[in-house]
Amino acid sequence: MTTSEPSMQVALMRGATCKCPQCGDGRLFGKFLKVVPKCDSCGEELYHHRADDMPAYIVMSIVGHIVVGLVMWAEFTYAPPVWVHWALWLPLTLILTLALLQPVKGFIVALQWKLRMHGFGTSRAALAPVRTQAS
Ligand SMILES: [Zn+2]
Repeated sequence: MTTSEPSMQVALMRGATCKCPQCGDGRLFGKFLKVVPKCDSCGEELYHHRADDMPAYIVMSIVGHIVVGLVMWAEFTYAPPVWVHWALWLPLTLILTLALLQPVKGFIVALQWKLRMHGFGTSRAALAPVRTQAS
């Protein structure tokens, strides 16, 4: 069990790899997009997250930029028939979306965890108080 708090970069990387942002060992998701209530490795409370639709918006932005860019490139370079566009871009959109949703949601949950949003950090408050900058 780890009691020291990881840096922002480490916590975000753990979240993006679908691991507990505190310890990096426990799973973040029980099902595809269902965050586990507590880490099964360190016991960190993870049910405080409020990712809501943010991961979906981010994934739509990423996938939209990739796919629309590729569609425009293919159209202006090769001018394929419409059925080729459908055959290429529809599966690519589906695959990219499904591949990115979990890492992006894990990233958002880890960001909320690290920033102690929505009740995150209440169990850590006694361990490591939030650092404040002297002005
Ligand atoms: Zn953990």
